[in-house]
Amino acid sequence: MSKVWNFFAGPCMLPEQVMEKAQSEFRDFEGTGTGIVEMSHRSKEFMKVAQDAEALLRELLHIPSNYRVLFEQGGGRGQFAAIPLNLLPEGGHADYFVTGHWSRCAYKECAERYGEAILHECSELNKDGLWEVDYSKMKVTPGSSYAYMCLNETVNGIESFEYPETGDVPLIVDMSSDIMTRPIDVSRFGAIIFGLQKNVGPAGMTITIVREDLLGKARKYCPSVLDWSVLNKFESMYNTPCTFSWYMGGLNFKWIKSLGGVEELEKRNIAKSKMLYTYLENEDFYQLKIAAKDRSRVNVVFTLKDESLNDEFIAQAKAHNIIGIKGHKVLGGMRASIYNAMPIEGVEVLIAYLKEFAAAHK
Ligand SMILES: *Cc1c(COP(=O)(O)O)cnc(C)c1O
Repeated sequence: MSKVWNFFAGPCMLPEQVMEKAQSEFRDFEGTGTGIVEMSHRSKEFMKVAQDAEALLRELLHIPSNYRVLFEQGGGRGQFAAIPLNLLPEGGHADYFVTGHWSRCAYKECAERYGEAILHECSELNKDGLWEVDYSKMKVTPGSSYAYMCLNETVNGIESFEYPETGDVPLIVDMSSDIMTRPIDVSRFGAIIFGLQKNVGPAGMTITIVREDLLGKARKYCPSVLDWSVLNKFESMYNTPCTFSWYMGGLNFKWIKSLGGVEELEKRNIAKSKMLYTYLENEDFYQLKIAAKDRSRVNVVFTLKDESLNDEFIAQAKAHNIIGIKGHKVLGGMRASIYNAMPIEGVEVLIAYLKEFAAAHK
């Protein structure tokens, strides 16, 4: 069987060991004679799966004990609503630091439905025609209930390696596509949200890591399934959780630990992305759109200088067993997502193809 190199942005490639383990346990979980998806979420077997996953997540991200971890459904988009519903009182306001597509979606969800969201445009084209994050624009307004930003803009290929100083105003971040690709200081944030499907599991589950003192402020009409205090009180089993994704998340966390944790993965992600960006920077046939300091380590966005070759580029890639490199529909161009599970070999295969295609079309 020939191997396919999967560069989709999410759902995306998962580690081979994780897929094999899940396959082997699918019909018979640990000798119970029943498959993991057939098991009650209240069974002692599943409760252990759930607790182990949380414990590993806490260990890998060094989550302080005054933070709760909530396992939810509704995706990143669900959390775009949950954030104002849980943190923004009627008549209050929040600051949104927009650096790309997903932070703009979060801003709109708040502004159009729940209350006053103050828009701060924080990325702009610099003098070289590259998009650049301007951290000096990330200033909270007095009386703000929270400040919001997305640490990795999956669509644009912009990653923020710095965070603004927000004082007493909690900083809420979306890490859907860069969670566990690098160490972070959780105590810097009021809450971190992410969907599993970009990097750490299949679709269907969202995780919110939230500081305890931010619970209990939800609006009265906040749906119970989005109310962080309700989820906390019921230990993420207020409604039936997505058991399969929870289990798969746990397998991914185990895999990450076996490699040496998030610190080791960061090294690998730096090496992989550097290799790809260095090639693209030095090849005139392709173009990068993001300033070097803000380039995402996991979503490498580029274009062909001659965009009329796009369809052929994608078709030829497929013939080389390379899939998922077409850019997001709102942006066009190309995007190679090289998350934790992508081995360096996959990046080498991609670069070899990029070289071959450029040489054939110059
Ligand atoms: C994919 C993505 C989302 C949206 O997630 P859904 O689960 O589709 O709602 C939000 N934020 C970021 C950074 C993403 O990459």
